[in-house]
Amino acid sequence: MGGWAIAVHGGAGVDPNLPWERQEEAKRLLTRVLNIGVSALRSSLPAIDVVELVVRELESDPLFNSGRGSALSANGTVEMEASIMNGNGRRCGAVSGLTTVKNPISLARLVMDKSPHSYLAFSGAEEFARQQGVEMVDNDYFITEDNIGMLKLAKEANTILFDYRIPIETCSVASQESPILMMNGLPISIYAPETVGCVVVDSEGRCAAGTSTGGLMNKMNGRIGDSPLIGSGTYACNLCGVSCTGEGEAIIRSTLAREVGAVMEYKGLKLKEAVDYVIKERLDEGMAGLIAVSSNGDVTYGFNTNGMFRGCANEDGLMEVSIW
Ligand code: ASP
Repeated sequence: MGGWAIAVHGGAGVDPNLPWERQEEAKRLLTRVLNIGVSALRSSLPAIDVVELVVRELESDPLFNSGRGSALSANGTVEMEASIMNGNGRRCGAVSGLTTVKNPISLARLVMDKSPHSYLAFSGAEEFARQQGVEMVDNDYFITEDNIGMLKLAKEANTILFDYRIPIETCSVASQESPILMMNGLPISIYAPETVGCVVVDSEGRCAAGTSTGGLMNKMNGRIGDSPLIGSGTYACNLCGVSCTGEGEAIIRSTLAREVGAVMEYKGLKLKEAVDYVIKERLDEGMAGLIAVSSNGDVTYGFNTNGMFRGCANEDGLMEVSIW
């Protein structure tokens, strides 16, 4: 057994104009939640509990695109989704279309633990949340001024904001004096919100994974992305735990998270080899990234976007947070 390890992400596809202060803010948040996870692992909390704990922290902070700070749907409301999977026994729970549940990851956990099902959505999921007595808030709680501005710009540009899809070379530079990259006449720095995820292996070698998001800015109402889909955005088994981020439609068609587990299982690849293989062979260029742990204590990540907010730590003292 290789000891515990943890990784977190705050989304793939980073705005090339992201101001330095905003980068530092993101790194501080990733460091803070990693430290929470590390303390929990040192206190022998099981992997699944650590995943839920860390994702809740990220959902409660408005910086990334999950819980408070979620990207807005086309009608200006928030429709959140999340999933969680325990590799120990391969149990899972997922939720979509949440509008008033403060911490979607905890409702996904309750679907796994307290319902006969794996996945609840929209009014049925909200009803289940009320029955379970989880904290509910008004939809306005999730909506930030930044995101209202981004939705307005997205509508003006008539686009869904897939910042990570735009290769930097194809963007035009505004002027020599102010080299701001533009897309559809808009500075790319407006395209900020990013999904969150956490993967953990505990000292017993149990892997777990969780992902939470508001989805894509200006998405159609009712759109479901990869994040709540077990096997696409999230997967855990006896070998590994994986959480993905990026363009949901690309992640769904490559069943990205499960592929990592599959090539470990069927091709006998080690974690890092499996992640590199899947990103190269299965994923469309420039679309997504993922974080992963294995039951023997390895932790790694991979992405084919320009960056991914991420951090990882392990029992041997590794502790790093990076973006590009
Ligand atoms: N994968 C998410 C989605 O498509 C977005 C993201 O990861 O930022 O809903």
